[in-house]
Amino acid sequence: MAPAKSRRKNALLLLTAGVLLSGYVLLLLGVTHISQIKLIDAAHEQLRLDLEKRAAALSYFYGVRRDDLEGLASSRSFGVFFSNRALGMSMEYGLSASLLDMHRQFTLLAGGKRMGNIPIYDRLVLLEPDGKPLIDTAAGQELRLPKPFAPDEALRQPQLLVVAEGERLQVLLTTPVVYKDKTMGSLLAWVNQELVYQQLVEKASDNGGGRVIVATAAGPLQPRGSRLPDFGGAGADGAVPGSAGPNSLQTRQDGSGDYYVRVEVADTPLLLVGVYPRQGLTGYFTSYWFSLSLGVLAVLVLAGAGVAVRTQTHNLVLQTRVDESLRQERQLNKQNAQLAAEIHKRQQYEKELVRQASFDQLTGLPNRVLALDRLSRAMIRSARMERHVVVMFVDLDHFKKVNDTLGHAAGDKLLVEASQRFSRTVRGSDTVARLSGDEFLAILEEVGDPEDIERICDKMQQEVARPFLVDGQEFFLSVSIGIAVYPEDGEDPQALLKNADIALYQAKESGRQAYRFFTPVMNQRANERQQLEVELRHAIELKEFSLRFQPVIDLQSEQIVGAEALLRWTSPSLGEVAPLKFIPVAEDAGLIGKIGDWVLAEAAAGGAALNAIQPIWVSANVSTRQFRTPEHFLRVVDKVLASSGLAPEQFTIEVTESLLLDDVPGTKRILDELDAMGVRIAIDDFGTGYSALAYLNRFKFDVLKIDRTFVRDILHDPEDATLARAILAMAHALRLKVVAEGVEDEGQAQFLKDAGCGFAQGYYYGKPIPLDELVGRMQAQQAASLQP
Ligand code: C2E
Ligand code: MG
Ligand code: MG
Repeated sequence: MAPAKSRRKNALLLLTAGVLLSGYVLLLLGVTHISQIKLIDAAHEQLRLDLEKRAAALSYFYGVRRDDLEGLASSRSFGVFFSNRALGMSMEYGLSASLLDMHRQFTLLAGGKRMGNIPIYDRLVLLEPDGKPLIDTAAGQELRLPKPFAPDEALRQPQLLVVAEGERLQVLLTTPVVYKDKTMGSLLAWVNQELVYQQLVEKASDNGGGRVIVATAAGPLQPRGSRLPDFGGAGADGAVPGSAGPNSLQTRQDGSGDYYVRVEVADTPLLLVGVYPRQGLTGYFTSYWFSLSLGVLAVLVLAGAGVAVRTQTHNLVLQTRVDESLRQERQLNKQNAQLAAEIHKRQQYEKELVRQASFDQLTGLPNRVLALDRLSRAMIRSARMERHVVVMFVDLDHFKKVNDTLGHAAGDKLLVEASQRFSRTVRGSDTVARLSGDEFLAILEEVGDPEDIERICDKMQQEVARPFLVDGQEFFLSVSIGIAVYPEDGEDPQALLKNADIALYQAKESGRQAYRFFTPVMNQRANERQQLEVELRHAIELKEFSLRFQPVIDLQSEQIVGAEALLRWTSPSLGEVAPLKFIPVAEDAGLIGKIGDWVLAEAAAGGAALNAIQPIWVSANVSTRQFRTPEHFLRVVDKVLASSGLAPEQFTIEVTESLLLDDVPGTKRILDELDAMGVRIAIDDFGTGYSALAYLNRFKFDVLKIDRTFVRDILHDPEDATLARAILAMAHALRLKVVAEGVEDEGQAQFLKDAGCGFAQGYYYGKPIPLDELVGRMQAQQAASLQP
């Protein structure tokens, strides 16, 4: 900013200086012009004086010549001669003597009057009135009298005539010769005008570099070939019009710029014209050229200032551009630096991405991508060397519970610890990778026999079995492992992994903490599962589902007081599929939500139909998964109750222990909300799982259903009988209604009744049947009860 400002100031200064200088030059020009005029005036004055001096000299010169002639004419010799002649004296006698004397006087004058040693007079003649020369200093030479010469006039008065004789210019002076008042003739004297000019005019005329021209009114005489400007209206008589006096001065300027000053020579028809070149007249500093050059200089100075300012401005613009480009360059440099930093960051980020793309961030183990890559390489290597590659799918059992109870941070620590333990169980050349959450994959090469694999599995389980210390708390874990072997169990990594996964599933199914080798039977089962899944996807749309209702009996009154809705699937290709078979598949395939909603709606509708006959509670089974979307679940329950018109108290939701075990976060909320709505909640299959009593207290259950495995052997197995009694006691303590499931005979029914169980359900009382059949049974029961 600052340099631009100073440059602008400079430009202003420069411009001001230019204007001032130009003003100064113009002032100079003005002053010069005035001085010039004054100088010219002064020069004119000087020239006039000079010319007048010369004119005076010339006038005086001719005056003297006149005196010469008059002196001669009145000389004694002339008197003597004319008196002698008048006396009649002859030539032979005294007259010739006096003529001679007169002649001598002539010669004396002609030869004696000199200028620069040259005689002034060329010729002196005494002309008699009859025109005959009496005396002639150049006797013998032809006497040519000038054209305007009038002898009579010359006899009357003195004259000065300018005559040209060939190249020679002469002034002819005439004076009458009078003797005793009688004109005896006239004296003619030819003055060497060239000489006069040279001596009196030319020699002295070096003033101002000019020259002087001798002229008459008729035109210039000397020097020859001179030209004069028109002084205007000079009369033929030689008078100068408008002239004030004999020395009146006139000036003219001709086209060439020369000055002409004219002075009359008194008592003569001659004029002196001084011709002065302007330059010479006024000098260099007052010359036109000087003014012009000053003017040009002024213009140049102004133009220069303009150019300077323009250059300055141009420079300013340039400088501004330079500044701008510098600024841009700096900006660019900054941006480049930022870009470089950004690129560096990017590169780091990309490196990190590559690392992330290949390695698990939490554990630092290879991730799925890298694991698959290593697996393919291992398979290629092994194929060449006819060796085996073993893949082991390793899954931590119930890891979700750790996460849910201890929090994710603790869960992460545990995973890191577990991954380190896994890595210790294999060789350095083998790979342990983390696939997701609690799923790990071990890739083993150069495995000798199945025992080796089992050994590794045992080692892994032992490692995991040691307590994990997380936040000062001991935690026990177990793993399930699924094993597949290349090339037997799969030709490509995908197949191998899929089969290892099937084996893992199998291991989990078997009650966890186990390892399973993939077998073709497993594969078949997996395939069946797959097929089930495919068929299940369209089962709702194709209306392949239906509900059966199994009656629940009040053991005291032996009346139907409730019904459990049980799902049935009749697949066109697979036939009747048991819920225990397809429900887990539906759960894994994410289809249970939709199916569950359908069941709730159907059960409520069925319940409403049954309640139209007599009050009866209807229960529907729900999957743990349905609780993972609490909002949706509660909304559906609300909706089905509203649309069916079934009273909430008559609707029971059956949940399994696994729900409580899985500890789905929203479980308590859902159960509380259902309770608030008035819907009853039953805990199903009680006694099969972990059956923590604490759960019973924590959640608001209304009904407890003793699993049929206890009921089955209740009469023969004292332990089961004891357990049943204990459950009953506890349930009653918690004020829960108890339903015994799977009652198949009267003995079981009796036992339960005796043990204080309120309700029962089983083949003994009725299998699950279609709604209309149950409606029929209820109507029959109703009719029977009405009978007296
Ligand atoms: P659950 O809820 O314990 O249902 C009782 C099961 O015991 C039913 O089997 C029923 O047919 C059977 N059962 C009843 N009385 C006897 C008996 O006297 N002897 C024997 N051996 N069995 C008896 P089902 O219908 O095959 O259902 C199996 C399980 O499938 C159900 O066990 C329930 O957990 C589940 N399930 C059934 N329907 C649904 C459903 O709509 N949704 C969900 N999530 N699960 C369902
Ligand atoms: Mg049930
Ligand atoms: Mg059950």
